[in-house]
Amino acid sequence: MNWTLPDGSVFAGNDAAKAAVAARLDSGTLPHALLLEGPSGSGRRTLARLIAAAAVCRSDGDRPCGVCPACHKAPRSIHPDITELGGSEEARSFHIDAVRALREEAYILPNEAPVRVFILCDVQAMTDQAQNALLKLLEEPPAHVRLLLTCENRSQLLETVRSRLFSVTLGGIAPTEAVTVLRRHLPDRTEEELLRAATLWGGVVGQALRSLQDGSYRDILDLLPPIAQGIAASTELQLLKATAPLEKAKDAVPAVLNGLQLILRDALFCRYDCGPLISTSPESATLLAQNLTRQQLLAALDVIAELQAARARNINHTLFLTLLCSRLRQAAGK
Ligand SMILES: [Zn+2]
Repeated sequence: MNWTLPDGSVFAGNDAAKAAVAARLDSGTLPHALLLEGPSGSGRRTLARLIAAAAVCRSDGDRPCGVCPACHKAPRSIHPDITELGGSEEARSFHIDAVRALREEAYILPNEAPVRVFILCDVQAMTDQAQNALLKLLEEPPAHVRLLLTCENRSQLLETVRSRLFSVTLGGIAPTEAVTVLRRHLPDRTEEELLRAATLWGGVVGQALRSLQDGSYRDILDLLPPIAQGIAASTELQLLKATAPLEKAKDAVPAVLNGLQLILRDALFCRYDCGPLISTSPESATLLAQNLTRQQLLAALDVIAELQAARARNINHTLFLTLLCSRLRQAAGK
């Protein structure tokens, strides 16, 4: 498997996922249905397109070779045997009719390649009805069909669908690797700025890039110190006020949780008077170290993990924010 992307860069990080995919592609045992799960911005669609290109490539060597006629068409979205459906903009239209049409199309033999590849993006947006329609295809896929599905978390899919998919999980990459990718898109930003955004988004490059482009990462950086102060404050009101902006910024939550996790980690290091501190607000870490015991800091870190798991389960956002305030205050012994 060749991990070079159409822009000449290499698909970074996610070594376990890449090894799992390469083993199957190189041995000619790519499953009929592969699920790429991971947060938005972790490269699911990019990887799906690369796998699709490899599946239609006619080279006998490392695929996609980048030079054969199939490799010329695939990155331009003009290969007749690669179809892409779904994605965030079309999420609402990803209903049962689209899946029925896909099912009919799947039985048509490939035009040029040995296989027909269907990329279905953000399948968590499918209704149960649509998923059941897809199930019929998953149960008895034509030999020439390869389905590449993407979603945030496989738990969002029906168990019957999930059990028929071979899953590969993508996640954030090392912040330093993420900086290299970000710099290609934003060459005039400072190293510090890129590293801060990459760290805040846990190495999920797509989200770090978006927040650098629209400036929202600065808003998130500004939110963190008041939230840290709110955790240590004598009354609950301060934390409620500090988290209020999140009511309308659901997308910022993963970065806020990552940011808080790093501040709490730094606070523990402060208590032992050692470093280096890696969070975006050493002042907040110092404040928490002065006001919370070691046990309370560890309990707060457990709460962050619990909140991240709650998000993965698609918890209601208002309930999530209430939980964030109450559980963090509780952990801090307030
Ligand atoms: Zn090729």
